[in-house]
Amino acid sequence: MDRSENFKKASSQEWDVIVIGGGATGLGIALDSVTRGLKTILLEQADFSKGTSSRSTKLVHGGVRYLQQGDVLLVREALHERGRMLRNAPHLVEDMRFIIGQYRWWERAFYTIGLTFYDLLAGSLGFGKSLPLSKKTVMSEIPGLREEKLMGGVVYHDGQFDDSRMAVTLALSAQDAGALCINYAKVKSLLKDSSGKIRGVSAVDTLPGEGEETFDVKGKVVVNATGVFVDEIMSMDEPETSRKVQPSQGVHLVVDASFLGGKSALMIPKTSDGRVLFGVPWHNRTILGTTDTPVKDCSLEPRALQEEIDFILGQAGQYLSKKPTRRDVLCVYAGLRPLAATNHSDPKKTKEISRSHKIYKSNSGLYSITGGKWTTYRFMAEDILNKITKDLSLSAGPCVTKDYKLHGYKTDVDRSGWDYVYGSDIDKINDIISKDAGAGEKIHENFPFTKAHVIFAVRGEFARTVEDVLARRIRMLFMDARAARESAETVAKVMAKELSKDDAWVAAQTQDFQRLADGYILD
Ligand SMILES: Cc1cc2nc3c(=O)[nH]c(=O)nc-3n(C[C@H](O)[C@H](O)[C@H](O)COP(=O)(O)OP(=O)(O)OC[C@H]3O[C@@H](n4cnc5c(N)ncnc54)[C@H](O)[C@@H]3O)c2cc1C
Repeated sequence: MDRSENFKKASSQEWDVIVIGGGATGLGIALDSVTRGLKTILLEQADFSKGTSSRSTKLVHGGVRYLQQGDVLLVREALHERGRMLRNAPHLVEDMRFIIGQYRWWERAFYTIGLTFYDLLAGSLGFGKSLPLSKKTVMSEIPGLREEKLMGGVVYHDGQFDDSRMAVTLALSAQDAGALCINYAKVKSLLKDSSGKIRGVSAVDTLPGEGEETFDVKGKVVVNATGVFVDEIMSMDEPETSRKVQPSQGVHLVVDASFLGGKSALMIPKTSDGRVLFGVPWHNRTILGTTDTPVKDCSLEPRALQEEIDFILGQAGQYLSKKPTRRDVLCVYAGLRPLAATNHSDPKKTKEISRSHKIYKSNSGLYSITGGKWTTYRFMAEDILNKITKDLSLSAGPCVTKDYKLHGYKTDVDRSGWDYVYGSDIDKINDIISKDAGAGEKIHENFPFTKAHVIFAVRGEFARTVEDVLARRIRMLFMDARAARESAETVAKVMAKELSKDDAWVAAQTQDFQRLADGYILD
């Protein structure tokens, strides 16, 4: 994983496929491409999943809400992908029980029928069965639910995962199969031949303090999988091109696990703005969200609006016996959905824009992909690679990712702690500790993470900054932003030793991370 070596490797050969963007979509495309036998490189401007792909609700789902909207094909496709994701990465995806409370007499039958249809659409890849529940069972599954007016409920099943762990797993899987995935490499321009066809990209090293080295990468096809930044890359190709993405912001609040009090998730099917709201158990915390706010400007660090925070606290407070307040919030994070732009007359109605994906091919041969969701990343990749290999008559094998065990694949994992997210890679962390007992020291007293987790993130998981480790390899920023802030210097020192960096680097990294973490803390 030496960066200079990687840059040399990147520019010293012709690739079949160059992927821009290391979120769910780009990483899925890189894995699909390399496993068809194509020489594949992926360039990510920041860290893998720095964008939207680390800021989801952490659901692997068909989308009950889209069923309500009548988008049956989308739901069926996503339900099949949900089953494949569980099958291919059982250490990262979990079957979870979702409870809908019943407050009116007809709701139990209504939701049971609808959710039974949801189960049927999943076919042989289904999870558990949807069933009506008594009030007593609902309360035993979600002890934190308000009992007042509750009559009973319905349980249905969906998947739950850790999004940025899945992203690094995809990058490692692609690398295992022979792809070159480079983080902190931003595409600045597209390279065209004399006939105007795109033949590569020009990129720059964006790793802080690394001197902004630039390098060219040549290839047969360039795929633009940059999420909400898709239009930026498309305009490098055709400056006058119309907007293809309608970004929509979603906010989540992370609070203590005791707000739900059990292992099941809560699904509120209709909030005051007509959306659904989830309370999802995640790494011994509860994630509450989300919102759907159309935005104009795209940033890698979007910030929650005051009204989004108030909305989530207010809605959750109506259903939970202990009302969450600002002081209970351990982390607030925002993400931008790269929704495929429509000609919808009312741009405010982003909740009604379909979550299905769209593929565009420009006259100069740039392929761009927008829309979709985490759950359908594999299907999106298969779709665009089918198109590319056909259009360009590339000699490639068939898509193999439907049944492809991802890096670290492990079935018998113990989900009571944190280490299950590594799957079989946990042996490598234990190995670091067995060779150096000091590596077994914790980085924060309230968390199970050790220096060995940090060392492994650097040696084996592409981590290059304190933020990479605390935000996306061990998720501490999302579990408790204050604790992550307190751990920054310790993490920086461990990383500095691994990366041969000096005290100035430690100070700069600590300060950068603490400034970032402040944006995830509610005062
Ligand atoms: C609030 C919210 C909740 C969600 N919840 C769920 C959920 O529970 N389940 C689900 O299935 N889906 C969910 N989604 C949808 C899902 O998260 C997204 O569809 C998915 O993560 C998008 O991935 P992406 O790769 O297209 O975009 P991104 O993750 O944003 O990746 C694009 C990448 O491109 C990089 N990039 C941009 N420009 C350049 C450049 N010039 N050079 C190199 N790299 C560049 C960016 O840095 C970024 O990392 C949710 C989305 C949101 C916003």
